[in-house]
Amino acid sequence: YCPISRLFGHVTWHFQTTSLYINRHPHQALQSQNTFQLVINTNFLSLTQLLCPCLVFFLSINQRETRKDITMAVDSSLSSPLGPPACEKDAKALRFIEEMTRNADTVQENLLAEILRRNAETEYLRRFNLGGATDRDTFKSKLPIITYEDLQPEIQRIADGDRSPILSAHPISEFLTSSGTSAGERKLMPTIQEELDRRQLLYSLLMPVMNLYVPGLDKGKGLYFLFVKSETKTPGGLPARPVLTSYYKSDKFRSRPYDPYNVYTSPNEAILCPDSFQSMYSQMLCGLLDRLSVLRVGAVFASGLLRAIRFLQLHWSRLANDIESGSLDSEITDPSIRQCMSDILKPDQHLAEFIRQECQMENWDGIITRIWPNTKYLDVIVTGAMAQYIPTLEYYSGGLPMACTMYASSECYFGLNLNPMSKPSEVSYTIMPNMAYFEFIPLGGSKAVELVDVKIGKEYELVVTTYAGLCRYRVGDILRVTGFHNSAPQFHFVRRKNVLLSIDSDKTDESELQKAVENASKLLLKECGTRVAEYTSYADTSTIPGHYVLYWELLVREGERQPSHDTLTRCCLEMEESLNSVYRQCRVADNSVGPLEIRVVRNGTFEELMDYAISRGASINQYKVPRCVNFTPIVELLDSRVVSAHFSPALPHWTPERRRR
Ligand code: AMP
Repeated sequence: YCPISRLFGHVTWHFQTTSLYINRHPHQALQSQNTFQLVINTNFLSLTQLLCPCLVFFLSINQRETRKDITMAVDSSLSSPLGPPACEKDAKALRFIEEMTRNADTVQENLLAEILRRNAETEYLRRFNLGGATDRDTFKSKLPIITYEDLQPEIQRIADGDRSPILSAHPISEFLTSSGTSAGERKLMPTIQEELDRRQLLYSLLMPVMNLYVPGLDKGKGLYFLFVKSETKTPGGLPARPVLTSYYKSDKFRSRPYDPYNVYTSPNEAILCPDSFQSMYSQMLCGLLDRLSVLRVGAVFASGLLRAIRFLQLHWSRLANDIESGSLDSEITDPSIRQCMSDILKPDQHLAEFIRQECQMENWDGIITRIWPNTKYLDVIVTGAMAQYIPTLEYYSGGLPMACTMYASSECYFGLNLNPMSKPSEVSYTIMPNMAYFEFIPLGGSKAVELVDVKIGKEYELVVTTYAGLCRYRVGDILRVTGFHNSAPQFHFVRRKNVLLSIDSDKTDESELQKAVENASKLLLKECGTRVAEYTSYADTSTIPGHYVLYWELLVREGERQPSHDTLTRCCLEMEESLNSVYRQCRVADNSVGPLEIRVVRNGTFEELMDYAISRGASINQYKVPRCVNFTPIVELLDSRVVSAHFSPALPHWTPERRRR
């Protein structure tokens, strides 16, 4: 190309398809294919001054051929304030993180302006008479902070087929079904096509950060248990499915280019199989066959990884038989899985013997590292509700580090953990300012503050404004600020608002539990005239899957019959039928929650509970029975008073279809 290079062979020119990291559309920055970065060996800078006219000539030619956003960087060394990147691709990702976090406020300001400009003619924004304003002050003074219920009518119209620009100028491409529920059904989060790029962008930052802490991940594979869930269509014909199902089914995931740092043992066919047994079986089989290549083991949430371990406990013998014979179990009927497994599965007597030997042992302590000895870390979210699984995961993994890499939701993806090897209790997520416009309501306050204005040590509720049309929407997560990376704050996930019980993706709040107990009590009263005097609950994760436990103290008057075991088991099922659809889906389709249990405690137990609370400083006047307990001495007290235990005898009713309002 260049006459200068011919003249001066010692000047190095690198032309790469790369991108800008200062860009009007931050989310596109890592994806633009037709921008150029010009890297000049810095030792010969003085020479380049001499060559400037040629340089200008060169750039002007290319500028015509490519886009206007050509950049020139005079630094070829791979360096980043976060640490030395593993390769040039990682260096770009880390520079992007630096650029976004250094300019967090400007990125946020521009991003909001872009959303408001783009969606100015939507029905929702017109309602608030912004008069073309795109600044933060006007936006905040005119638009209310809202919840899902406030937006329900608009969402229903879109779901029913109204294609006019109600929330977003860009067409709503699908609904992402949140694990948060409204009136017992999953919330429907509108999304637009380009949001997939934004989500993909956040994913593309995870391995570059991980590579800073764990070297050599390109020398092996990840054993990840990933699943699609059932999806439906809204009455207007839009798909409604969980965000990860949408992502795994997209070309972004299915046709992802080969990346040595992101090779999975699970073939796409196994991940995309809608039958959860067949999907898990084939993913586990592939993980076993390739066991020595596995460098990391993961699932999205801790509960998912434990489910995989439980699956191995139940099915290792069948898996070993398949490995021995080189033929796939007849229960795996999915043709695409059978096809792809025929290439992977070859008879291996030695491996089959090894698996039998390890799995038939009583002691499963450290089973993960015994079967996959090269595993360097577990890649699972163990923050928030998932923290209850840390001890069990430590047991099965022999104390491997647990990396919580990202923080995301159906509404939008928020950010990533820049120190993924930190202890679970110290995990902080850095919110990426290019993902959405973020505001924070201080706990106990009402005035939302900007991303860069949050204060270390304070707790906030997260509010988002997204490209897809959610405006000042309360996500329901409570976060505590732990520090800053450049000007972007880092947050510890404290809790989700109003969640009492959670085992997997299910979230049950106090009123849902109350309703369930009321419905079961009616049955109890009708069948044997007995009332529930008091109750509390507990998420028991000592078994896999975990299950809900309800402690009931009954009011059995003199002369009244004690309720029979049969009645109490039916009360369990009645309660399950009353819980929201995510709970019932976990029970029925995912098998990720076990049968609900009622433990009847003897009379006077709840009075003892109150005495205990008062002895620990609770005020006698303000004492209320906790509707959920997790403090070990209290659980032990309750358990020591149990007179009988009863489990739900059947699965509750669940179908993928949503109940119409
Ligand atoms: P969903 O609405 O089903 O997409 O679930 C999103 C919610 O899951 C978030 O709003 C959080 O409450 C929770 N969540 C997601 N990522 C994390 C994380 N890394 N740590 C703790 N909780 C998380």
